[in-house]
Amino acid sequence: MSDKKKVRIAFFDFADCEGCQLQLTYLNLNFLGLLEHCEIVNFREAMSEASDEYDLVFVEGSIMRPHDEERVKKIRSIAKILVAYGACACTGGVNGLRRRFTDDEAKEIVYKDRPWTIEAGWPRPVHEVVKVDYYIHGCPTNNDETVKAVKSILLGKGYTPPDYSVCIECKFKENVCLFEKGQVCMGPVTRAGCGAWCTSSLNTCYGCRGLLSNPAEEGHMEILAKHGYTIDTLKQKFDLYNMCRLEAEKNG
Ligand code: SF4
Ligand code: SF4
Repeated sequence: MSDKKKVRIAFFDFADCEGCQLQLTYLNLNFLGLLEHCEIVNFREAMSEASDEYDLVFVEGSIMRPHDEERVKKIRSIAKILVAYGACACTGGVNGLRRRFTDDEAKEIVYKDRPWTIEAGWPRPVHEVVKVDYYIHGCPTNNDETVKAVKSILLGKGYTPPDYSVCIECKFKENVCLFEKGQVCMGPVTRAGCGAWCTSSLNTCYGCRGLLSNPAEEGHMEILAKHGYTIDTLKQKFDLYNMCRLEAEKNG
């Protein structure tokens, strides 16, 4: 395939730690293989060249300030396909915690009596501002899933992330459930696709891939009750990655 026909891929970051882009800079031979069919034309974290002509765009990070909103709308107007990349972009991620506080409260917590110089804005997942075509979840994203999704998108098949729980992948790995080990886990209501990354290393799932579209909340409550926990035990874990969605549901 000649360079002219290659799909031009661009990465853009907003409010986030850039950890998902960083994941992609780790040597991944499958990803390098994709470069036969596409070229990366904008990737601030890994190259200095930058082009405003692109087809497939990965947007990492939450949209916070009016300036971010204008910028992502411009990106959307150029891109043929837009992928929300990583938890901050897909669900608001940990930035959603900012929604617990008013501007003044956030200012007090972060700056105390130092000057308030940064415009904080209000965290929103990308789909609350522009149309998103596909989602690649995770904090950070998983390179194997990214390669699978890009291949599928390039073939015109699109990409739909799994909509079953992390528990399913955890069971396939034959892990002993962490509830049996006295830990509280978000796996029963969290979207799979990471291969039970954390729970396979004896760390509980914090729900970084977001809630399932139809989470089995009652089942999760039953598991909690069986092990002597209440919803309050889980509140912090729910909020950590899912604050934007929980708030949107609360506000109807
Ligand atoms: S609750 Fe957590 S540890 Fe238990 S099976 Fe589900 S994902 Fe695995
Ligand atoms: S186990 Fe949970 S917290 Fe860990 S990567 Fe998977 S979804 Fe994210």
